[in-house]
Amino acid sequence: MDLNDDQTTLQEWVHGFALNVMRPAAHEWDEREETPWPIIEEAAKIGIYGMDFMANTYADPTGLSMMIALEELAWGDAGICMALMGTTLAVAAIMANGTPEQQMTWVPQCYGTLEDIKIAAFGVSEPDAGSDVSSLRTRAVYDAASDEWVLNGTKTWITNGGIANLHVIVASVEPELGSRGQASFVVPEGTRGIRMGQKFTKMGIRASHTAEVVLEDCRVPGDCLLGGKDKLDEKLARVREGKKASGQAAMATFEATRPAVGAQALGIARAAYEYSLDYAKERKQFGRAIIENQGIAFKLADMKMHIDAARLLVWRASWMAATRKPFLNGEGSMSKLFAGETAVKVTEEAIQILGGYGYVRDYPVERWHRDSKIYTIFEGTSEIQRLIIARAISGVHIK
Ligand SMILES: Cc1cc2nc3c(=O)[nH]c(=O)nc-3n(C[C@H](O)[C@H](O)[C@H](O)COP(=O)(O)OP(=O)(O)OC[C@H]3O[C@@H](n4cnc5c(N)ncnc54)[C@H](O)[C@@H]3O)c2cc1C
Repeated sequence: MDLNDDQTTLQEWVHGFALNVMRPAAHEWDEREETPWPIIEEAAKIGIYGMDFMANTYADPTGLSMMIALEELAWGDAGICMALMGTTLAVAAIMANGTPEQQMTWVPQCYGTLEDIKIAAFGVSEPDAGSDVSSLRTRAVYDAASDEWVLNGTKTWITNGGIANLHVIVASVEPELGSRGQASFVVPEGTRGIRMGQKFTKMGIRASHTAEVVLEDCRVPGDCLLGGKDKLDEKLARVREGKKASGQAAMATFEATRPAVGAQALGIARAAYEYSLDYAKERKQFGRAIIENQGIAFKLADMKMHIDAARLLVWRASWMAATRKPFLNGEGSMSKLFAGETAVKVTEEAIQILGGYGYVRDYPVERWHRDSKIYTIFEGTSEIQRLIIARAISGVHIK
């Protein structure tokens, strides 16, 4: 289970960036609550932000490289990590649903170039459709005369929403068909009728921009429909006839991307564990280091055990995705669920170990706890992950 030379080199390289660039900037961007453009530029300059980085890390046939990189980036700072990685949500949607031509056209435009860096956003969630994505209200109507799609609706909680150069928007083409009547659309830079709504102030990952995206008669060319119109028409015809659409394919995509979210949670948990372990050895009360008390040492033992278990689940799921093993037991969900909950628990225990020092902003531990909480909410809440696992292991449609 040793990492190979390439993986070790990647880990050391990304760790260096996390340690020397992200960590010193973390507090500032948490306070400013803005997209950390100088850090994104720095990352692009050394090759950590951009299409090549994504392509190279995802090309690892073991599936581990991206997990290793994400753990290190989130160890540096989860908010900045999300500012760097929010674009990949849109990229993943294009890769999963786009034709090869669409992939070639749009993926490079998500990242831009070193001289002209771009970011992208992926919009599914709506005010009344969070976990229940089948009830999206955003509509896409085809205008045959101009070969354009007209989008109307409001998306909410969108990472990079409204400031992205390119948005991928999931909209309903036939609302009565629920999630099977939906399609994904690229809204390229410069399109009229798309704007940012409210920008949210958040508990954690504050260096990552989160906002509403409002679509008002937003017209995109016909070829912005990912997968193309023929494929969509075929799918809708099959669904109308009562045959199953390939919902399984979408599930498989989500299962495959979940370990990447788990890897980030893992990075936060490791940061808090390492910090509190060092602190427990240094801090003296009653004439001895606090780690000499079982009450503290056992917490650290549990923290380490959960972190290692989370990493194994994340790596297993990522390896399964890379080697195209079927997720028969919701292994992708398991990895995200366990790592997300581990991050919340470990960062909370880290605060406890630091006592009052853990609770104040002069120390990073309270920030790590604030950052950790989102990992039980976005990309499928913990409850939804449990639902997926329970359905997978039982074959019962549990509600
Ligand atoms: C910082 C941030 C960034 C985000 N980025 C994006 C993004 O880039 N793109 C995007 O599309 N979305 C994004 N989201 C949205 C995110 O995915 C949703 O918040 C999430 O899916 C939950 O939806 P909701 O908030 O509407 O909660 P709800 O679905 O209303 O859930 C509320 C509670 O009810 C529970 N619940 C719901 N249904 C069930 C059920 N069947 N069984 C048991 N419990 C249930 C949930 O688990 C949760 O505890 C982001 C959110 C945040 C906060």
